Amino acid sequence: MFDVIIVGGGAAGFYAAIQIAEKAPDLKIAIFERGKTVLSKVKVSGGGRCNVTHGEFSPHELVTNYPRGKKELLGPFHKHAPGDVMSFFEQRGISLKIEEDGRIFPVSDSSQTIIDCFIAETKRLGVKILKNSAVKRIQKSENGQGWQVTTMNRHYIGKKLLLATGSNPKIWNQLAEMGHTIIPPVPSLFTFNINDERIRGIQGISVDASVEIPPKKAFSSKVQIKLKSALKEEPILESEGSVLITHWGLSGPAILKLSAWGANILHGFNYQFRINVNWTPEYTTGSMENYLWKVKETETKKTILRTRAVEIPRRLWTNLVRESGIEKDLKWSDVTKEKLQKLALQLTACSFKVEGKSTFKEEFVTAGGVDLKEINFKTFASKLLPNIYFAGEIINVDAITGGFNFQNAWTGAYIASQAIAEDLR
Ligand SMILES: Cc1cc2nc3c(=O)[nH]c(=O)nc-3n(C[C@H](O)[C@H](O)[C@H](O)COP(=O)(O)OP(=O)(O)OC[C@H]3O[C@@H](n4cnc5c(N)ncnc54)[C@H](O)[C@@H]3O)c2cc1C
Repeated sequence: MFDVIIVGGGAAGFYAAIQIAEKAPDLKIAIFERGKTVLSKVKVSGGGRCNVTHGEFSPHELVTNYPRGKKELLGPFHKHAPGDVMSFFEQRGISLKIEEDGRIFPVSDSSQTIIDCFIAETKRLGVKILKNSAVKRIQKSENGQGWQVTTMNRHYIGKKLLLATGSNPKIWNQLAEMGHTIIPPVPSLFTFNINDERIRGIQGISVDASVEIPPKKAFSSKVQIKLKSALKEEPILESEGSVLITHWGLSGPAILKLSAWGANILHGFNYQFRINVNWTPEYTTGSMENYLWKVKETETKKTILRTRAVEIPRRLWTNLVRESGIEKDLKWSDVTKEKLQKLALQLTACSFKVEGKSTFKEEFVTAGGVDLKEINFKTFASKLLPNIYFAGEIINVDAITGGFNFQNAWTGAYIASQAIAEDLR
């Protein structure tokens, strides 16, 4: 019999075990892990560097990074935020660094540092770790005072259960059978597959741009004039930031943000949709047209292809000029209004057809999970099942890339562990 059984030896499970054991050292705590190794996602996280959290210390700002969980995490972030996570690691001898974009990593640039810390801490605190122990079934214990978990061939009883199984469908199915609502899981944080001449052969280029996904119906017609007027319709998704041109299409923070905020919508589109990129976000199509007219008047003798009129990488400029039907040697003085309009459109509302998605290797998550309405965010306890708690990706919370997904795991684990330890002490 254990006081606390934690199902899932990942980020949330380990963080919780350590916090419970520190607060209530006499409790018998076990982590059940289905794999032969623990913390496997931590290992590969952040490209092997583990982006532990983000240097955003205001809970109000922090929550804006969560497409799902924004409202619910505000209270919890007042109790346990990135500053607390930094203290947790630094008190355990791990130096951290905040990079320019706000992401926080161990100074070692190695996720193994974090894993070693978790393993050493659970060992020091006497937490039992059962590997190769997939929990197959969860049911009320016979005396009704706790929960029985069943692995391949054994039953165990815990007074309290913390479920930290990430995005494992089996546990979600089991919870659904027990009465919980599970929001259907869909991938989040992915890049867009685009096969298009304008970005072919120029991979590696990164541009500060604004991107938007217009309503689908706007693209049912191939007529460009219609397209232009359709752009006035409210986009269904939009974001700003770096757009990275890759071998397969588009990636970078602005695209990953769209993939997170649009996880459900884009899944509904079966990842077939259009995206408009404004490579020069300080201009609208109209103001770009005016600007290009001014360039035409001042740069009369120069060829358009060789005069990069805006601050975008030269190879991209070349491709967009070509796409506008502007010949190699055409001079500004000779360009027609129509061609300049086309160029303005390419620069400010460059429309691409997205045909599928690819995995972003540095970080990906699943949107969906236990319905947030059924969780008490003061304790991360189930509102339906007594003595069951949740932490991490198992709940319907996910974030954009940057360390926010781990922060959700740490905060949920911390709050659940305080509630569990206080109850059992
Ligand atoms: C490649 C990659 C890189 C990432 N990089 C980052 C990053 O740098 N920063 C960031 O913030 N986020 C990152 N993430 C997201 C982050 O890893 C997750 O949000 C986080 O791991 C969630 O923690 P968790 O404990 O809820 O789930 P997990 O870490 O997935 O742990 C769940 C554990 O439960 C175990 N389990 C599942 N079912 C059972 C069962 N029935 N019985 C027993 N055990 C079970 C699993 O084997 C697993 O070990 C990354 C994700 C990926 C895939």
